[in-house]
This record gives sequence, C-alpha cells and structure tokens, in this order.
Amino acid sequence: MNDVTRPRILVVGAGFAGVECVRRLERKLAPDEADVTLVTPFAYQLYLPLLPQVASGVLTPQSIAVSLRRSKKYRTRIIPGGAIGVDLKSKVCVVRTITDKIVNERYDYIVLAPGSVTRTFDIPGLTEHAFGMKTLAEAAYIRDHVISQLDLADASDDPAERASRLQFVVVGGGYAGTETAACLQKLTHAAVKRYPRIDPSLIKWHLIDIAPKLMPEMGDKLGRSAMEILARRGIDVSLGVSIAKAGPEEVTFTDGRVVPTRTLIWTAGVVASPLIATLGAETVRGRLAVNAEMTLPGQDGVFALGDSAAVPDRAKDDENAICPPTAQHAMRQGKHVADNVIATLRGKPLTPYEHKDLGLVVDLGGTDAVSKPLGIELRGIPAQFAARGYHWMALRTNVAKVRVATNWTLNALAGDDFVRTGFQARKAARLKDFEFTDAYLTPEQVRAHVEGADREE
Ligand SMILES: Cc1cc2nc3c(=O)[nH]c(=O)nc-3n(C[C@H](O)[C@H](O)[C@H](O)COP(=O)(O)OP(=O)(O)OC[C@H]3O[C@@H](n4cnc5c(N)ncnc54)[C@H](O)[C@@H]3O)c2cc1C
Repeated sequence: MNDVTRPRILVVGAGFAGVECVRRLERKLAPDEADVTLVTPFAYQLYLPLLPQVASGVLTPQSIAVSLRRSKKYRTRIIPGGAIGVDLKSKVCVVRTITDKIVNERYDYIVLAPGSVTRTFDIPGLTEHAFGMKTLAEAAYIRDHVISQLDLADASDDPAERASRLQFVVVGGGYAGTETAACLQKLTHAAVKRYPRIDPSLIKWHLIDIAPKLMPEMGDKLGRSAMEILARRGIDVSLGVSIAKAGPEEVTFTDGRVVPTRTLIWTAGVVASPLIATLGAETVRGRLAVNAEMTLPGQDGVFALGDSAAVPDRAKDDENAICPPTAQHAMRQGKHVADNVIATLRGKPLTPYEHKDLGLVVDLGGTDAVSKPLGIELRGIPAQFAARGYHWMALRTNVAKVRVATNWTLNALAGDDFVRTGFQARKAARLKDFEFTDAYLTPEQVRAHVEGADREE
C-alpha cells in the first residue's frame, strides 16, 4: 500500500484517553495498515490527579508532564496545536497550530478526546478573578501566586492588605477542590515559618461548596473523616454555600459573608471541551452523545470518549447512567476505542465498553488521606499508601515514575524551599487564558471555512 490509500486515523487530544488510544493503535496496527496523527497543543500527557501536588510544590511540573515521544513503538505524526472545529460532513478537522496557522486536517476515522474545561457560572467577577486547577500552567501559576501573597503580606504594614493576602478561598468540595485546599494549606502552613513577621493565625483557608456534603462519592464516613482532617488543620469548610460575586480583593459568599482575599480557586466541576459544540451533534449535558461502542450514531468513523463524551455506563443498573469524568474511565476507554477503530478497519464487529469503578483515592498532603479502593474504606497512612501507590502505578513511563518517586522522597526528607519562579509574572491569568476556551469556531464558521478551503483547492 502507498501513502495515498492508507486510511487516516486522527486522534484529537493527548490526555488519558487520547494517549492510551494512540499507544494501542501503534502496538496493534501494522505500519502499512493506517496512518496515525495526533493533534495536541502540548508535547506531554498531563497527569491531572497530581496537579494539586505541583501547586503545593511537592512535585515539580516536569514530573507529571509525561513525554509523548518516549515509546518503543512511537510512530505517530504529532501536530502541535488545538482542534478548533470539526466538519463531520467533509471529514475535516480544523486545527490552529501553536504558531496560529490554520490547517485543515482530513481524516477517515476521528477519535475525539479533547477532555474538559473548568465549568463556570454566570457569577459577577468569576471569570476575571478566579483561577482554575486544570492545566500545568495554572498549577505553577497558583503556586507562585500563593507564595507571592506571603512575600507581599510580609512586606506590608497595612493590616487590610495583610488580611486579604493571607486568606484563600477554594470553591468545589469534590476531590479536586478538597485536595487543592488541603495541599495548599500545607504549603502555607510550612512556609509561614520562614516569615517571622507574619502572624500564622492570620492565614485562613476556606473550602466551600453548594452541595450539602464533601466528596459525596466517598460515602458519609470517609467524607466526615476528610472534614475532620481539614478542621484539625484550621481549614474552614462551608457547605451549602457558593460565591455571589468576586472582586480583585474580596469575594462575597451566598450566605452574605464577605471574605477579603486575592486568591479564589474555582474547581466546581468540568464541562466537555468547547470543541464538541462545533460538531453540531447531539450532546448530554455538553458531552457528545455516543453509544456504548463509543461511536457517534449516524456518522461514519467518528469515535469519542473520556471527559468530552457521554459514554453509557453499562456497569450501573440505571440505563441512562453515563460514565463519570475520571481518568480511570478515560484510560480504559482509550484502549477500548483503539480496539474498535481497528475492528472497523478490519471489518470486524465492535464491542461495547464496560468498566466497574475501582473507587477513589484522595491525597490530603503529608500522611493525611482518605481512600476507597474496591469499596474498602481507608484513612491515614494506609489510605495515603493506596493513593500514592495507585497514582504511581498509573504513570505511563518508567522515567515519570522515577521522577515522581524521587520528588516525593526529596520533599518528605528536605521539605520545600518555597521559591517563587516568576516565569508567568505580569501575564494575564484568567481562566480563558489558561484553557483557551475562546479559540473555537461555531459550527457555521467551521462549515464556511471548510467550504472556502475546498473552493480554493
Ligand atoms: C485536579 C484534578 C484531580 C483529579 N483527580 C482524579 C483522580 O484522582 N482520579 C481520577 O480518576 N480522575 C481524576 N481527575 C479527573 C481526570 O483527570 C479526568 O477525568 C481525565 O483527565 C479525563 O481524561 P481525558 O483524556 O478525557 O481528558 P484530559 O486528560 O484532560 O486530556 C485532554 C487532552 O486534550 C487536549 N486538548 C484540549 N482541547 C484540545 C483541542 N481543542 N485540540 C487538541 N487537544 C486538545 C488537552 O491539552 C489534553 O491533553 C482529576 C482532575 C483534576 C482536574
């Protein structure tokens, strides 16, 4: 076979789902069976569950940015950029490269795995003043930002300025928000010892959520254990509360409290990547409505998975259940989609995806953790062992495993130096600046762009 006749498989997104899919395609397909192309803005797969540990300085950013090119079977063509629209009719994916060049990438099979972005609401000031915890740049930015609040509070003699710099608000009582608040509180608690001019009692962390329970997926007992750990550390947890408005130096809670703060971290859920809306296809709460084989009904050669797709959860009794947006599902779906793409290529039947949740692990920093692997409730050191063991095993390359283990050991033995790098100082830092949510085309713009390009060819 020559290049022209080889089927083109295009994978969009190099996260848990996309990378597992690509690696399996590389392993199982003969080189002349198909061309595999991957569209990704970054040169790494981000291990998101460990982001709070990057923000708190336990891990360096590089240790959770796993190389895409370190694989024995590596042969995928990588386009450095983001997909900004997909035209299902002409089978074209419109890509903006990292140099802002617009490229039309034609495909025979497309695997959509662009993940999710931070879910926001129409709350005054939220998108201007909140930080998210979804990208490596955000985690590194937040770390610098928190340390700079200590530096500036230390240098200031103004009590009002000190108060606003030393209070921190995290919104979202799911595992991401809880881990973020817990890990960052540990950072400020340890760092303040190096700031003799700061009264430690002025440092206050708030964790708030509109839901009545913290991490409901952990169950009542472990949720309560997590609350006790946070309370012991002085973190103020408020449930049934959200943000009414946010400003540069204070936030107002829905219960009327006004908290002086310059740090609002928003982790109140995710929504599918805006790329999904460019398809103009059916969605379930923003996620692309696919069947259990992870194909888009009525379309030839379109697969979607991970956080961006509503994959039926066949392990649950409820026939309307969809898989939760977790790495656990995304990784397994990635492998399964690769098998289904190969089956399609070879004219074999596709198989439905099914996976029973293995549970959740929550690292609250130090020896504090709560975990529920396979339904077994763990607290303290056994829970921490399960949490770190699980993440360590799930890291894709041995080099990443060594980096993470070395960082954990070094941090446990020598602590943190609380160094502010300043790499992103004075740069705009709003949610959309990190997550590029305004980069996408509308379905009409995609169509017009593709038709225009077709006429020029
Ligand atoms: C702080 C935090 C903690 C978490 N902890 C856990 C945990 O403990 N356990 C668990 O199971 N899950 C956890 N999750 C959830 C888990 O990380 C996600 O469910 C998982 O990453 C989803 O995988 P994915 O491949 O769909 O998306 P992602 O892993 O997010 O990958 C999407 C990829 O697509 C890229 N991309 C985005 N847009 C485009 C585009 N337009 N074009 C091309 N590429 C694009 C992104 O850069 C990214 O590389 C956590 C999430 C967060 C934020």
